[in-house]
Amino acid sequence: MIKLDIVSIFPGMVKAPLADGVVGRAIGRGALDVLVHDLRDFTTDRHRVVDDMPFGGGPGMVMKPEPFFAAVDHIRRARGTPEAIVLTSPDGERFTHRDAVRLAALAHVVLLCGRYEGVDERVREHLATESLSIGDYVLSGGELPALVMLDVIARLVPGVVGDEQSVARDSFVGGLLDYPQYTRPAVFEGHEVPAVLLSGHHAAIARWRRREALARTLARRPDLLDAAVLDDDDRELLREIEGGG
Ligand code: SAH
Repeated sequence: MIKLDIVSIFPGMVKAPLADGVVGRAIGRGALDVLVHDLRDFTTDRHRVVDDMPFGGGPGMVMKPEPFFAAVDHIRRARGTPEAIVLTSPDGERFTHRDAVRLAALAHVVLLCGRYEGVDERVREHLATESLSIGDYVLSGGELPALVMLDVIARLVPGVVGDEQSVARDSFVGGLLDYPQYTRPAVFEGHEVPAVLLSGHHAAIARWRRREALARTLARRPDLLDAAVLDDDDRELLREIEGGG
């Protein structure tokens, strides 16, 4: 079972979303081993200070290195040596499905959450094994990014999502975007569900879905097609779509 440790000055903010949903249930039944650590528990001063002024001047505060090193030391002693120590950081490599697959295959992953102006660079250089960003924007802290990464990783751990088939079909997993989904009613305010889905014709439904997945990937994310695993039928469907058929 994968062990995931998150280090943050706001453990409550990290724990709350882990109580519900697919991930919450997986933790509840022991399919995921998640621990959230309060960074301030690894300070040594009376005021539990985790930040200080930046050397060289400038605005804001920088997170001190010592508490992060002490937290990871503690995790090592209590939980074993982690295989990956991820620093959440907007200047890190972009976190993608591929990273999630790689991290989900490990036995133990630590996620470090920054705040303020960021974290003393020595944490990245000498403690973290990698730094990852969830996108080109700056959040006020690493908690939401760490939760995003944990959620994505957790869904790929066998036994977390009830139906493995549903993960296999997800956007990005098979290299394509997902096909469109519909549920009842068959007609909503005059808008009809595609007739093929009501036909009961499984092969026709499968072909329609594959075509839709290919068509929207081509329209919205053609970059994904280069890496997608396509067979002859897919290539024929793509030619049809590109030909406007
Ligand atoms: N001054 C820094 C931003 C610090 S934001 C810069 O410009 O790069 C404070 C913390 O929020 C970071 O240490 C990191 O842990 C987290 N964070 C903010 N945006 C993020 C993003 N896009 N991806 C991952 N972590 C992010």
